[in-house]
Amino acid sequence: MPSYCVVTFGCQMNMHDSSRMEEVLERAGYEASVDAEQADVIVLNTCSIREKAEHKLRSEVGRLGLLKQRRPELVIGVAGCVAQQEGERLLKALPQIDLIIGPDNIPELPRLLSELDRGGLPQVRTVFDVDEPSFLAATPTPGRSSATAFVTVMKGCNERCSYCIVPTTRGPERYRSSREIIDEIARFVDAGVREITLLGQTVNSYRDPSGALPPPGPGDENRWRHTRGALAQEDETEFPALLLAIAHEVPELLRLRYTSPHPRHLTSSLIRAHQQLPVLCRHVHMPVQSGSDAQLKRMIRRYSSAEYVERTDALKEAVPGLTLSSDVIVGFPGESDADFEATLALVERVGFVSIFGFTYSQRPFTPALKLGDDVSHEEKSRRLARLFALVDAQKEKHLASLVGGEELVLIEGHSRHGNLTGRTERNEIVHLLGEAAERADAPGAGALVRARVGEAFKNSLSAELTALVAPAPRVLTEALRRSSELAQAGATPRRGLPMIGATGSP
Ligand code: SAM
Ligand code: SF4
Repeated sequence: MPSYCVVTFGCQMNMHDSSRMEEVLERAGYEASVDAEQADVIVLNTCSIREKAEHKLRSEVGRLGLLKQRRPELVIGVAGCVAQQEGERLLKALPQIDLIIGPDNIPELPRLLSELDRGGLPQVRTVFDVDEPSFLAATPTPGRSSATAFVTVMKGCNERCSYCIVPTTRGPERYRSSREIIDEIARFVDAGVREITLLGQTVNSYRDPSGALPPPGPGDENRWRHTRGALAQEDETEFPALLLAIAHEVPELLRLRYTSPHPRHLTSSLIRAHQQLPVLCRHVHMPVQSGSDAQLKRMIRRYSSAEYVERTDALKEAVPGLTLSSDVIVGFPGESDADFEATLALVERVGFVSIFGFTYSQRPFTPALKLGDDVSHEEKSRRLARLFALVDAQKEKHLASLVGGEELVLIEGHSRHGNLTGRTERNEIVHLLGEAAERADAPGAGALVRARVGEAFKNSLSAELTALVAPAPRVLTEALRRSSELAQAGATPRRGLPMIGATGSP
């Protein structure tokens, strides 16, 4: 059997695409390589959101080129956003590559590989499936499933944020039918998954292409002070109806999350869904990017800081205890000290408990290119450090406030130190201690337990396991036992990149 290794860079969307690639290859008769260095096919699934990510790809291809000198039959594939963005240019620049494949062309991977095998020339396949969008269904297998999984509800993006390359690399928005989504979630739950995260670039702009969900109704009277009535109605989507349908049709699901939502579609109906559905976790990642209205305009984010604050306030009021995290870009062109102070003020006002902070990076084909890049590298780094310091302090205060209380923890596995570890519904990492957590028959991955928080650390909590609320599903327990036996027998596939050229490597 030919063997493969898929190496992933970048976001959850890419990790999800990598899993689909692995499934497509396995259905075509490939097997995961136990040793990545020996794989017949190595696919690098790339990210181009910032320039740094692209540089990383170039250096990895260089390293693989050395391996190819020793094993000329090795096939090097490049997938993901850089593949889509660069296509032929990448093949010209890096002739070690055999195959360039865009995110919508993953199903064609086996055919393209077999053409190469029969002596075909290097290939570039980067065509969007705009006319007939299709979504590769996941095939959850208990042996592969963990307690959590991602399910795609849409791909592409219709927003035009001026800094962002995603509309170029992922194309326009295309939605998956609600039936496909719900059936995939049910299959995951049957395979032992307890928590699902719905995935999409603007996940809450979802509309059901099959028409099976009720369209957004006329809505309530506009509740927003900062958004005009007609605009508030336009923001409504079928995403809340999708959440209701999932909760209704897959009642065994323990937790439901979604990422990343767009603040414009944080609507009255979505807030109501949070109030109605206990399955929806009390944590939302809501990218804000900046707290300055002038910068939000230049970024073409389509909301003001007042709208963002008003809507997240309403969500927090409707769902007591809900926490928020966010994405912020520092050093976007024209960002003055005052603009950055406005971002810090908003971060403090909303009280984010974690943040993905990025320094602005110019990307090809984006409207912001014409704005230049006038904030120095040093100033960007200083601003990022201040942003992280503020959010770290907020996170520490939040974690400390949980000490002494009880939390429901979904167990995900063991930490590096051997502790049973899981997450609360607000995504806080919890290390479980105490006699019940340390026994040989302690609850395993997929179990939901109650725990009393004893200590707060910088990024996590420790808690004493006090009660089992729901045992791990049997399929998951058995699968994990089998995979740990395989690991002990040394047969676990290594998914990292081969260490080529490192001291001591072959
Ligand atoms: N669709 C999601 C959204 O709108 O939030 C995520 C898009 S992107 C994969 C994740 C984050 O990367 C963005 O929220 C933004 O903060 C950051 N980002 C995108 N383009 C960037 C750029 N040119 N420079 C720096 N950060 C960028
Ligand atoms: Fe990029 Fe904006 Fe679309 Fe997010 S919403 S993917 S930041 S264009």
